[in-house]
Amino acid sequence: MGARVLRLRRIGHRDELRVSHAADVLRSAAEQLAHMETIRRARLRVAERITDLIGDTPVVRLRAFDKDTPGVEIWAKCEFLNPGGSVKDRAGYQMIRDAIRGKQLQPGQEIIDSTSGNTGVAYSLVGGALGYPVTLVMPGNVSWARRKISEAFGTKLIFSDPMEGSDGAIVLCRKIVAEHPGRYFYPDQYSNPSNPLAHYNGTGREIWEQTEGRVTHFVTGIGTTGTVMGTGRRLKEYRQDIEVYAVEPDDALHGLEGLKYMDSSIVPTIYHPEELDGVIAMPTDEAWDVSDRLAKEEGLLVGHSSGASLAGALRIARRLTKDGRAGVVVTLFPDRADRYFEAPVTTQTPAPKS
Ligand code: PMP
Repeated sequence: MGARVLRLRRIGHRDELRVSHAADVLRSAAEQLAHMETIRRARLRVAERITDLIGDTPVVRLRAFDKDTPGVEIWAKCEFLNPGGSVKDRAGYQMIRDAIRGKQLQPGQEIIDSTSGNTGVAYSLVGGALGYPVTLVMPGNVSWARRKISEAFGTKLIFSDPMEGSDGAIVLCRKIVAEHPGRYFYPDQYSNPSNPLAHYNGTGREIWEQTEGRVTHFVTGIGTTGTVMGTGRRLKEYRQDIEVYAVEPDDALHGLEGLKYMDSSIVPTIYHPEELDGVIAMPTDEAWDVSDRLAKEEGLLVGHSSGASLAGALRIARRLTKDGRAGVVVTLFPDRADRYFEAPVTTQTPAPKS
């Protein structure tokens, strides 16, 4: 080491410059190597924590459907491939992360929210990964599979009146929070700006990159509306003429779990329909038929809200073809169909008579 310092002292000014240039080159090579390593780990999906695997979902072309709409491509963002199995991992993680950063969620506090299922699974996953207990308030009629999944994470479940739907769960959740000051952190996904922000930072940017800026339309179902608002906002920032459509059930009594009929619901404060190009009213039958076709013709076993989103996208695609216009229509599949399978036959089922 000493000999090296002496030698360096002896070298002239030009050599010093050369040494400093060489150091710069080495530093930038090291940075490049580190960057390449980050990219390699991302490609191989090597993560420090399960939450690092939320987002960056693939898009898939739906050729069985877009063969009927010449000139228009239809793509789906596979949100069911998130680690918790749904699009809600994004919002759940963003809301909890932002609350920890903003100190609204402190060590020792519990997370509570009203959810019809998928956000509950997301909170359970994130709570488990980050060390916060979770309580969920849900309508008593949510699917057996989704109850079981949340419970398996160690989450506590409280049931509201099934006749009052997701609004009944919201009201009961607010009551519980008010009765126990300081005990809970209540993200309130219907009015939390971190919900659409997750899609502004993630979903919208990813769709733009994955379609290499070719996306012309984005169509998706609405529950809290976080997905459509955040994704739409980001896409319109890239190109103002990208059209964004929400799909909502056409009736208060519908069979599209996860979606909300706004006319008779508590309207989420994050919902700003004036930013959208339109809202498509979707009959349950049309959405269910498309879900069935997706499984049989594309090998995609997704939930009924995915069928609703694609049914909406198909209406847009058909209109484009009819008008002789080209397009790249992107829709989004929030979760998989197995989340809605019924409870298995139990030992209480009478044995067949011999
Ligand atoms: N589909 C399903 C199955 C859902 O669980 C949800 C969330 N309620 C949505 C669609 C709608 O997503 P968002 O809340 O972002 O509007």
